[in-house]
Amino acid sequence: MVLDSFIKDLGNIPHSRDAAALRVKSADFSWFSPIMSAALAGRLADVVVAPRSEEEVIRIASACARHRVPLVARGAGTGNFGQAVPLAGGAVVEMLGLERIVWRKPGSVRAQAGIRLGVLDEELKKYGRELRMHPSTKRLATLGGFVGGGHAGVGTVNWGILRDRGNLLGLRVVTIEETPRMLELRGDDVNHVHHAYGVNGLVTEVELPLAPAYEWLDTIVVFDDFERAAAFGLALATHDGLLKKLVSVHAWPIPGYFKPLQPYLPPGKAAALLMIGAETREASEALVRDFGGEITQCVPQAGLYEFTWGHTTMHALRADRSLTYLVCIFPREDPLGAIRRVHAKLGAEAYLHLEYKRFNGYVTAEGVPVFRYQGFEQMTRLYKAFEAEGVRIANAHTFLLQNGGMKDLDEAQIAFKRAVDPHLLMNPGKIAGLDDLPGGVSGAALEAAQLPASGWAY
Ligand SMILES: Cc1cc2nc3c(=O)[nH]c(=O)nc-3n(C[C@H](O)[C@H](O)[C@H](O)COP(=O)(O)OP(=O)(O)OC[C@H]3O[C@@H](n4cnc5c(N)ncnc54)[C@H](O)[C@@H]3O)c2cc1C
Repeated sequence: MVLDSFIKDLGNIPHSRDAAALRVKSADFSWFSPIMSAALAGRLADVVVAPRSEEEVIRIASACARHRVPLVARGAGTGNFGQAVPLAGGAVVEMLGLERIVWRKPGSVRAQAGIRLGVLDEELKKYGRELRMHPSTKRLATLGGFVGGGHAGVGTVNWGILRDRGNLLGLRVVTIEETPRMLELRGDDVNHVHHAYGVNGLVTEVELPLAPAYEWLDTIVVFDDFERAAAFGLALATHDGLLKKLVSVHAWPIPGYFKPLQPYLPPGKAAALLMIGAETREASEALVRDFGGEITQCVPQAGLYEFTWGHTTMHALRADRSLTYLVCIFPREDPLGAIRRVHAKLGAEAYLHLEYKRFNGYVTAEGVPVFRYQGFEQMTRLYKAFEAEGVRIANAHTFLLQNGGMKDLDEAQIAFKRAVDPHLLMNPGKIAGLDDLPGGVSGAALEAAQLPASGWAY
């Protein structure tokens, strides 16, 4: 009944209750985790709504508040922490119809939240500019989804993570109230909404700073041993004069999972997948020689980044479904020392994948190792073993925001949540202790939430 009245209030806003649409639009990439796969199975929205304008977003927000219908914002649904999976039914609000660039200046751009990052980046390149960073899902992912569920990506080696000050300039947010308000968040306030899994209002516009667009070369370098590859990666990431946008290093057997790249990835060798600037190519080649690497491919940009960041895990899982992953950050002091120790102790079980990145002002490596999942005891043991080497873990196997470890849910965040979503309708069930669903988190999902992750919010 409630839903019927809600749908009636939507008027001419496109919506669907088709079973196949509900299945597809209620899913994301949480299947990366065997734990979340099981915990989120069968969670479905009751209706998919697809606004085409900000005015329609406001009407949807108001109707949700009046009828107390839960809602989950959705971009392309590429999040891999269950962020976009509705736990309490209700509406999925697919934002893809808001795809306009609002304005563009030489150093910044403002666009609607549903624009695909790939489309936005291509448009910027016409003016000699590009996004400072993008996830490896650039072709599909939306601007609002990157802000709501993402963290870092290609370009982070230069510019830091999305949360670092200056990488997100402004956001426009619609509150979920009977009479919705439009809020413009700027400065540190953007982090109320960034990586908040869409619990803090519907983002309609995002303002970003830009980077100069260089001619990037997709480059593959192979090494006889992983430690050399890791040392090369850190050297390239920290050499300020060398242009680079991506420094992604992989221990064997991970390169074996990249089927289309096999001609460039000799069996048994470690690999660095890079985007380097054409202007400093020779200088980068000299660095490769210093570390004993061999360049097997160096071509104009053609999508090599789709084997890095989260795509590495995807290729590994597609090759072998018994694999899963963890996400960690190596320490600021002597990251190579920790990488060596972890690789020596655990490398036979957890195959190391490193993304070099700037993080809160320094260069280190994010680790996204893959391993054959054998259950909770193994996962707990691995988490503790990484932590024992000074590596901090973000829990990739929980959909609970604060347990993920990438976000600090302090009082200010909760106060903001209550102000913009007083009826607690947005993505309910993702903040433990605030809007717990009847029955709460149970079984494997509960265990996953309690994995001893150190987190790396700052
Ligand atoms: C293969 C693969 C590779 C990946 N690589 C990276 C990577 O390199 N870096 C990285 O950070 N992440 C990565 N991810 C995770 C994911 O792709 C990114 O988070 C991406 O930016 C999500 O965009 P999306 O449009 O698909 O968002 P969705 O998955 O649709 O949504 C993500 C979250 O944001 C919320 N949201 C979406 N739109 C809005 C809006 N308009 N207003 C309010 N909330 C909203 C949703 O409710 C959800 O909680 C990867 C995932 C996969 C599967």
